Amino acid sequence: MRGAQRDALGFLQEEIQTLKDQGRYSRLRILETAQEAVAVVDGKRVVNLTSNNYLGLTTHPKLKGAAREAIDRYGVGSAAVRTIIGTMTLHEELERRLARFKGTESALVFQSGFTTNVAVCQSLMTSEEDLLISDELNHASIVDGARLAKSSRKVYPHKDMKALRSILESPQARGARRRLLVTDGVFSMDGDIAPLPEIVELAEKYEAIVMVDDAHASGVLGENGRGTVDHFRLSGRVPIQIGTLSKAIASLGGYVASRRVLREYLEHWARPFLFSSSHPPSVAAACIAAIEILETEPELLERLWENTRFFKEELRKMGWDTGESATPITPVIVKDTDVARRLSEMLFEEGVFALWIGYPTVAKGKERLRTIVTAAHTMEDLRFALEKLKKAGRALGLIA
Ligand code: PMP
Repeated sequence: MRGAQRDALGFLQEEIQTLKDQGRYSRLRILETAQEAVAVVDGKRVVNLTSNNYLGLTTHPKLKGAAREAIDRYGVGSAAVRTIIGTMTLHEELERRLARFKGTESALVFQSGFTTNVAVCQSLMTSEEDLLISDELNHASIVDGARLAKSSRKVYPHKDMKALRSILESPQARGARRRLLVTDGVFSMDGDIAPLPEIVELAEKYEAIVMVDDAHASGVLGENGRGTVDHFRLSGRVPIQIGTLSKAIASLGGYVASRRVLREYLEHWARPFLFSSSHPPSVAAACIAAIEILETEPELLERLWENTRFFKEELRKMGWDTGESATPITPVIVKDTDVARRLSEMLFEEGVFALWIGYPTVAKGKERLRTIVTAAHTMEDLRFALEKLKKAGRALGLIA
């Protein structure tokens, strides 16, 4: 390489060094088995408290069988965007099934939950006269969607309904052409649930469109895992529901479940839909099989919640600070990056994988381990993890 070219990216070394100096540098862990409750990570067998595989469907025989069949029948890829020749029978079938599952007129699938949020925010907020209103802890894809939107935006402190009301009452909001009020249904780092009934009431009063991102609620909350709208019995009052196919549904993708008119509009305006290729048919087929399981095997959801209740309760009894979590995502808040990292490393050595999360993913002073239990964990797995958490917590002087 010539000197100038070799140096062209040299500035990145400095950026990386800064990350290292700040204790924010980490390397990728490698999963060597399937995504399961007990998995091999970096050569070590661990109880896995890190995945979003809520119902343990990543290795379910019905999903694997459906994917295989789809490959045999339709091949491995669509090789086109949806609007050209990338809309296959299975994509349409998946969308019909999702709409039925969510109880909406229609659904539209995107390549990921991330692109779905970006696509919807960007497509709906097309003028400076529009206003996008967002909870401060909403997912990065909503933040990026808001950045790509042409609208102004206002962010309210986490779940602060007073602050939300005063934004909605402000002259800027009242004078806006459209108001899009966006919230995560379940917040991904804290596992707490959005106060959707209050949000919907405010939105109805001040004529805002509510969009809820149920990435961590679909397959988890509500009857058969239908999400926060069902959980709060708000059916018909939340015009836009976002979901992901990459967590409880165990495959890949995102979707918006809404009115037919939104689907039609997005088919013409959503840039990821227009300009990025569609899912391989095997992905769509696996997702269809997952929805069938959600509709017909409620015992998986029951097991997820039994495990969740047990694990949370035991953590609290041990004296850990688990924040406001009310779902299978349970943070173990230790309030220090270094401590979070050391706790995570000690657990890993002992055979438990729980990722540490520091600033800027969470606020300074809120550093933590993030644990997620799934329906696939056995009581033995959970007891083992709890015992190791107790041992490491005591060794670090974090619990009595
Ligand atoms: N929204 C939320 C709240 C999430 O946690 C995530 C995943 N981290 C996404 C959207 C993005 O979903 P996906 O991984 O399917 O892109």
